[in-house]
Amino acid sequence: MLRIKNLKCSYGSIVAVHGVSLSVKKGELISIIGANGAGKSTLLLAICGLLKNWEGEIVFQDKDLKGMSPPAIVRSGISMVPEGRQIFSPLSVMDNLKMGAYTMYRKGLKSQVEEDFDMVMEMFPILRERAHQLAGTLSGGEQQMLAIGRALMARPRLLVLDEPSMGLAPKIVEMIFNVITTLQSQGVTILLVEQNARAALKISHRGYVLETGKMVLQGSADELLVDDDVKRAYLGRD
Ligand code: ATP
Repeated sequence: MLRIKNLKCSYGSIVAVHGVSLSVKKGELISIIGANGAGKSTLLLAICGLLKNWEGEIVFQDKDLKGMSPPAIVRSGISMVPEGRQIFSPLSVMDNLKMGAYTMYRKGLKSQVEEDFDMVMEMFPILRERAHQLAGTLSGGEQQMLAIGRALMARPRLLVLDEPSMGLAPKIVEMIFNVITTLQSQGVTILLVEQNARAALKISHRGYVLETGKMVLQGSADELLVDDDVKRAYLGRD
């Protein structure tokens, strides 16, 4: 579904991603793990068109993403839940979800948007209670739910999540990971970037390890969970 070949991303003279290749098949849940500054967010920004000037190849469902604008990439079926949530703080919860549905409105699929509101509210009942509250006044966990809900409003075929567990209490993290698993079981393909490597690998089919911009290891999640180098660097103690 997604194929990345020899991707190189730079910020001026700083090379953040050095020749990375990866693939995500339809229906898979794939994790990318790595330390701070490894280049994980940069890789996701390139996929979503938010970073220009990358070299290499990013192909989604046989479509070359090179030069495509972020809205065109969303229309092609990729939605992102960005690092730090990036919700629209001065807007209500409902209006944030409507913003996520922008491409659906553009396609004239208004009745499907109503269905999608219900789907998101069922997944995150707290958002129904808070529908008219300003998004900036939500708790961190509620904001993360909103960021995921907003991404789902575009009916993505590939959902890309950048560190959804960041800064959240363990119970909320567990809930968010359950939601990610549910979405995958409903047919959404998922690319997950996480520092919480153990939790991410536990729900993934396969994983990639990114170190200082290079992909140093890949394998099934089960293999990575017992790999000595991965354990030492990313998993800590059980
Ligand atoms: P984290 O887990 O801390 O978010 P990451 O793996 O997502 O880290 P990136 O944010 O992709 O890492 O950063 C990769 C490298 O690129 C880092 O060395 C970072 O300092 C650099 N970098 C990121 N954004 C910029 C920018 N806008 N300008 C210059 N350098 C940047």
